[in-house]
Amino acid sequence: MPERVRTYLDWNATAPLSAAARQAVLAALELQGNPSSVHGEGRAARALIDGARRDIAALSGAEAAHVTFTSGATEAANTVLTPDFRMGRTPLSIGRLYVSAIEHPAVREGGRFTKDQVAEIAVTPAGVVDLSSLEALLDAHDTSSGLPMVALMLANNETGIVQPVAEAAAIVHKRGGLLVVDAVQGAGRLPLSMAGLDADFLILSAHKMGGPKGAGALVSRGEVLMPRPLIHGGGQEKGHRSGTENAIAIAGFAAAARTAIEDMAARNAAIAQSRDRMEARMAEIAADVIIHGRDVSRLCNTTFFSLPGLKAETGQIAFDLEGIALSAGSACSSGKVGASHVLTAMGFDAGLGALRVSLGPATSEVEVERFLQAFGRIAGRRRQGVAAA
Ligand code: PLP
Repeated sequence: MPERVRTYLDWNATAPLSAAARQAVLAALELQGNPSSVHGEGRAARALIDGARRDIAALSGAEAAHVTFTSGATEAANTVLTPDFRMGRTPLSIGRLYVSAIEHPAVREGGRFTKDQVAEIAVTPAGVVDLSSLEALLDAHDTSSGLPMVALMLANNETGIVQPVAEAAAIVHKRGGLLVVDAVQGAGRLPLSMAGLDADFLILSAHKMGGPKGAGALVSRGEVLMPRPLIHGGGQEKGHRSGTENAIAIAGFAAAARTAIEDMAARNAAIAQSRDRMEARMAEIAADVIIHGRDVSRLCNTTFFSLPGLKAETGQIAFDLEGIALSAGSACSSGKVGASHVLTAMGFDAGLGALRVSLGPATSEVEVERFLQAFGRIAGRRRQGVAAA
């Protein structure tokens, strides 16, 4: 039997390794040295990491000296989300963490804060953080316990909705707090600038932008105010993250970052055009389709939709059987589809759930058309009351 054509439309879960990242990874595999060694082999590995640090700094509009490599966004989040900070050598306590209700679990779990030190910031039905709720929470913050820390993502992984980070930063900084921005889904899709966002920390992940899995970064605004490290040991990454750097994955991360900032505007405009055409066709095929966040600012590549009468879990399987990889909310380790906390936070009846289509720079019109054909069949079966899968 001929192999069935697969169509990958789940770029927000992970992006396929880009050609540039693959090449960089293969080249780095040849490096023998430990970047901490002083001999020539060590210095070659160190040079690669220093270059990569400049690339990640360029991507995030930050200083190279302020980039700490980690094993991914989850580790970066667990590093920075802690009550235990240092201002130079002086301990500084963070009293409470305020997270938006739509954060990815990597952030929403609160890192090293205890559960009772974490509070949730509401979002509006439009899927945007409620800034008046943030203001009220911070006004009620008890500074005797320490400074407030706020975590707000740049763009949501399920809906693609872009969050008002700079406005939130003004509120947070007016009250002496720190702002952590999970920029995982925004990197390469939106221009990033530490100063423009007025963020104190940014969290990045390589595999969402065409790099390999297992590399990420915590980018800080300065060097003085830093969290107590999560991983202690040999003092690599200026003591902020011990352990021999994963030069291979970091090389791929840097290559993906260089590609991400090349022609970013033109590439993303083309993706947005393709996504918008796709959504218009979806609405023609099934007039009752609900496209979440369609009226607010969204990432160029993401469509999060619900079809009345189709449970997201059933829909995901139906699309998979049609050869199309998309997801129901965020991918979690068990592969189970749980109720979307993002839809719940938006006040949408999360029982039905929603499906996420996320496109990438390599997604072709043929692939979008295959999705639309499958969408038509699945929506049609639903109308006839036949189980979709
Ligand atoms: N934050 C967001 C918004 C994500 O989409 C993801 C990945 O699903 C993460 C954090 C976690 O990233 P990593 O897989 O690098 O730990």
